Amino acid sequence: MRHRNSEVISLVIPFYNEADQIVLTLETVRGVLEQEDLAYEIIAVDDGSEDDSWDLLLDSAEENGRIRAFRLSKNFGKEAAICAGLDQALGDAVIVMDGDLQHPPHYIPQMIHLWRQGYQVVEGVKTGRGPQAENRLAARLFYSIFRKMSGIQLRNASDFKLLDRKVVDYWKTIPEKDTFFRALSAWMGFKRVSFSFTVEERQAGKSKWGLRKLIRLSINALTGFSSRPLILISSIGTIFLLIFFGLSIQTLVRYFQGRAATGFTTVILLQLLIGSIILISLGLIGIYIDSLFREVKARPRYFIEATFERDEAGKASGYD
Ligand code: UDP
Ligand code: MG
Repeated sequence: MRHRNSEVISLVIPFYNEADQIVLTLETVRGVLEQEDLAYEIIAVDDGSEDDSWDLLLDSAEENGRIRAFRLSKNFGKEAAICAGLDQALGDAVIVMDGDLQHPPHYIPQMIHLWRQGYQVVEGVKTGRGPQAENRLAARLFYSIFRKMSGIQLRNASDFKLLDRKVVDYWKTIPEKDTFFRALSAWMGFKRVSFSFTVEERQAGKSKWGLRKLIRLSINALTGFSSRPLILISSIGTIFLLIFFGLSIQTLVRYFQGRAATGFTTVILLQLLIGSIILISLGLIGIYIDSLFREVKARPRYFIEATFERDEAGKASGYD
């Protein structure tokens, strides 16, 4: 049994160019945790920010011994930053949340309450319209394709989650480098429960997800969780082969009837169609080979360039 008095909650927060936001976020989170009288640590991961984020994190960690700051050697992306945070977290339960307060910290006590009831994964599910209306159509399309291909329902899922120590330890045994936190943590199983929250407006700064990063994440997610696109190619190929047989009989009949020249349009259309399908298929296979290539190389997900934390006695340590 867990001793309630000695339990520690870890909060993992990735930051990328959040200088306008960091101090407010850390203060808000701290307020919630201290009001609840919880033993906690905050794992703040600076995902290679180019602004003052790291200096601000250092100031905060200097002042509050419960903040442990880690700086990645470049912008490895939010997924890698979450992995770094999970690797560093020491708590009995680990909560992952965004650094821009869009995941409202006032849900934290409720998450911990559910965890104490015995749930090992507590998942935040987005409700309401939320501020990201312009992304909704694309997001819905992606999630519906993702569900058809992988069987995992992610609609309205978020990265706002609590994981029990056991789940985090198992997470660390997952060898794949291109992780997709939302889906992988759902795939892991364990005793789970979800709660609804409304995504808050961003307080400052703007979203760090460009279109390219989002497309990259979507492709990684799909190829990481499903090989159906590869099988789909073969099915399309078979259908086109059947059409091809039908058309060749027609063409031969016309040829023997001496009316061959009229088929020219068909030839051009077929050329275009088949050519494009071959290119799409090759591209798709290329995407899988690319993801195999990256997994086979097995490069680390991130490098930590600098750290700052205090030990029990309050002595500071770190490197940079
Ligand atoms: N983030 C990160 N690395 C990145 C992009 C984003 O660590 O390359 C962090 C960002 O600082 C924030 C969280 O991930 O704490 C969510 O990012 P953002 O608010 O830009 O995403 P959105 O809310 O638009 O989905
Ligand atoms: Mg955000």
